[in-house]
Amino acid sequence: MVALRRTKIVATLGPASNTPEVLEAMIKGGVDVVRLNFSHGDVNGHIELANTVKKLAKQHDKQVGILADLQGPKIRIARFKDEKVMLKEGQQFILDAELNSNDGNAHQVGIDYKQLVKDVHPNDTLLLDDGRIVLIVESVEGQRILCKVTIGGVLSNNKGINRQGGGLSAAALTDKDKADIKVAVKMKADYIAVSFPRSAEDINYARQLINDAGGKAGIIAKIERAEAIDVIDEIINASDAVMVARGDLGVEIGDAALPPIQKKIILRARQLNRAVITATQMMESMIENAIPTRAEVFDIANAVLDGTDAVMLSGETAVGKYPIAVIEAVDRICLQAEQQREIRRSSHRIDSQFDLIDEAIAMGAMYLANHLDVKAIAALTQSGSTPLWMSRISSGIPIFALTPTEETGRKVTLYRGVYPVHFQPLLIDDDVLNERAIDILQANGVVSEGDIVILTKGDFEVKGGTDMLKLIRVGKMTKFKVD
Ligand code: PGA
Ligand code: MN
Repeated sequence: MVALRRTKIVATLGPASNTPEVLEAMIKGGVDVVRLNFSHGDVNGHIELANTVKKLAKQHDKQVGILADLQGPKIRIARFKDEKVMLKEGQQFILDAELNSNDGNAHQVGIDYKQLVKDVHPNDTLLLDDGRIVLIVESVEGQRILCKVTIGGVLSNNKGINRQGGGLSAAALTDKDKADIKVAVKMKADYIAVSFPRSAEDINYARQLINDAGGKAGIIAKIERAEAIDVIDEIINASDAVMVARGDLGVEIGDAALPPIQKKIILRARQLNRAVITATQMMESMIENAIPTRAEVFDIANAVLDGTDAVMLSGETAVGKYPIAVIEAVDRICLQAEQQREIRRSSHRIDSQFDLIDEAIAMGAMYLANHLDVKAIAALTQSGSTPLWMSRISSGIPIFALTPTEETGRKVTLYRGVYPVHFQPLLIDDDVLNERAIDILQANGVVSEGDIVILTKGDFEVKGGTDMLKLIRVGKMTKFKVD
């Protein structure tokens, strides 16, 4: 029997991975979702890449989801006359909202986000370049923020600014993001990631913009602000999936606070029936090296044990030297971590009430699956909800999402333990349909003669129509064929 990897791999595309050859190898290597990072590159490049990925996926009969990641209001310094400067510990450094954008020097630099002067106060700690440079605010004079350097170093153009503890007030969707949403809808992205959301309202607003543009993309809330943690349930409920964005979040809340927060976000997302991605620096050293560090091997495995749906690669596949080897490494680490027994059991929702018929069928299927020797589940689905609910329950059982809808097939690429298969159930007799579903499981090498499988299905014309559950022993199906 083949062991299928349950944890999904999200890979960011960039200069290291934008040729058809590398993309093809990455898809063959098991990438489930590609991430187009709208912080970099131009619109036409993203559209072209999305088309290439779709074409290659089709050629290899694979489903690959497309995630468009909006830049968001990352607050940045402007630029220096000489590209970069050296800041020394103890010196004064001024962030000046009125300074010409290209006129920075070792004493001052411009800022693109003019509001910053209103958001900061004396004694605030500002972290530049992901915390590599640290400034303490001494005073704010008009449009100038006067700071003292407490950790110095090289500072170059357009580096990010975070405040320790969070609280910088920029709105989550900039004018560029609003324009990029239209592009993402046009390229039929399956997911759109909102950067730096502060509240559920930010997500609702993004959803409204996506709807207005005629799109159906799922929304991923990137949890990367300290204040998002305070309203995490509201944000999760407003989104389709969340990302533990450890880069920016770690700068705001401190690196040591990240591990418990990662576990909490993953747990809450699963409890609230949402998917979750763990992101940033997972295999960072493989940007330069052909093998990961032991610590990185553990980081991937621990995210799997935490219950994440997907792990994400950023620079590793976007600019790294080993975009294919890193996918192979993540693949093998996930596969082994998934063999640990404790993550294949669940008491999730054991005492809870279900609201919907299809949700109850999904939960009933998992109860049976975990109490009988069920080898695989085939869920016929229109919207993808049934496999999502099923995959919120930990189990080692593969869930095949059989769907006639291409968008649904690509959406479930993110869900742990769910494998999309194109399937057109209309106009097929019921017994033939059952057999075809079993054929798919057999073709995927997960069941053989005598195994028990679960099939869920329902009225396919309606969303949420799943209302039937069937236990089938492979090869023992009764046929009522009348010619
Ligand atoms: P980014 O988001 O890669 O877009 O910055 C992820 C993170 O902050 O961890
Ligand atoms: Mn970020």
